[in-house]
Amino acid sequence: MSHFQDSFVAQSAAVRVRFGAGVRHAVAEEIRALGCHRALILSTPHQAETARQFADLCGPLAVGTFTNATMHTPVDVSEAATAHALQLGADCVVAVGGGSTTGLGKAIALRTDLPQIVVPTTYAGSEATPILGQTEAGRKTTLTSPKVQPEVILYDAELVQSLPVGMTVTSALNAMAHAAEGLYAQNRSPLSTLMAVEGLRAFRDGLPKVVANPQDPSARGETLYGAWLCGTVLGQVGMALHHKLCHTLGGAFDLPHAETHAVILAHAIAYNAVAVPDLLAPITEIFGGTSPGMAIHDFAVAMQAPLALRDLGLMEADLDRAADLATQNPYWNPRPIERPALRHLLQAAWAGDAPTV
Ligand code: NAD
Repeated sequence: MSHFQDSFVAQSAAVRVRFGAGVRHAVAEEIRALGCHRALILSTPHQAETARQFADLCGPLAVGTFTNATMHTPVDVSEAATAHALQLGADCVVAVGGGSTTGLGKAIALRTDLPQIVVPTTYAGSEATPILGQTEAGRKTTLTSPKVQPEVILYDAELVQSLPVGMTVTSALNAMAHAAEGLYAQNRSPLSTLMAVEGLRAFRDGLPKVVANPQDPSARGETLYGAWLCGTVLGQVGMALHHKLCHTLGGAFDLPHAETHAVILAHAIAYNAVAVPDLLAPITEIFGGTSPGMAIHDFAVAMQAPLALRDLGLMEADLDRAADLATQNPYWNPRPIERPALRHLLQAAWAGDAPTV
């Protein structure tokens, strides 16, 4: 299938990507290649031991660790980490972890312009985007700036082997959401579509093998390859209903990030498939099934993904407010945002029903 378009604008960031099981051992080489020699290693508290291992890998090129990266990048944590980096005289950061740790590296880069090496351990894809979400006083804001785009990404399949299967599946669906919405983005290009299709294919092929054997290095590599492609799509084109709904549910009701993406994706795609069936046809071509929404739903069921917002802690009484919030600020979507249809979507997602058009 051709992805040709009559006209388009395509813009890619200058990012160096190294891929391969064990590639983390090249981290010192990559620090030197940036002209740096004082790296601050970042992680969450949960991955502090991994951060210490990275400090060992960096040897004299590491000046310290900051292991307090926190979900949704709270500004006070970013300011503490930035002060720590400045105090140590760091000249680059090495962020080892998922989207939360990558977010902290980006927040430091925003404030200091320090170059970033990111070593992703989930499929969230933040490492491939110039986007930073931050929270302050319970409010989440998002900015896009070339200052936060990481310079180097090291994709090491061995580091994803420890990701528990449940998180693997939700993180993969989080990544697939970037590609799925990329297929109908207003500012898509043939290149972003090519990457979206290949990213979805990589998850179709790799994820079932990872679920069957989480230690399979080749399958872990293929899913990480999918995460890179899907994340790159997120960094290049605008998102719509799916990301808006997840943002609303996460922000207003404190629902977990990746799990919410996993539940909503089939429903959002079913909603939009009515308006842009041709643009979403690659999803049925890749996953099979009767419609794009059902194709995603069936894949999620086969991967034993969470299916219901109620299982993530959302109360049925919250659905009206969620529908109000999601329709409050207008944004572009291939199908107009109609409150009754959206309320219906949320009800089905809350109950864990298959998507209905
Ligand atoms: P996360 O980074 O919060 O990780 C969740 C937990 O899993 C953490 O405790 C982490 O230490 C642990 N973990 C990560 N990798 C592991 C591994 N391999 N083995 C064992 N434990 C591991 O989760 P996430 O879903 O990767 O990131 C979510 C955050 O990223 C959200 O704040 C979201 O908004 C952000 N995000 C941003 C972008 C962007 O472009 N700005 C894109 C996607 C996600």
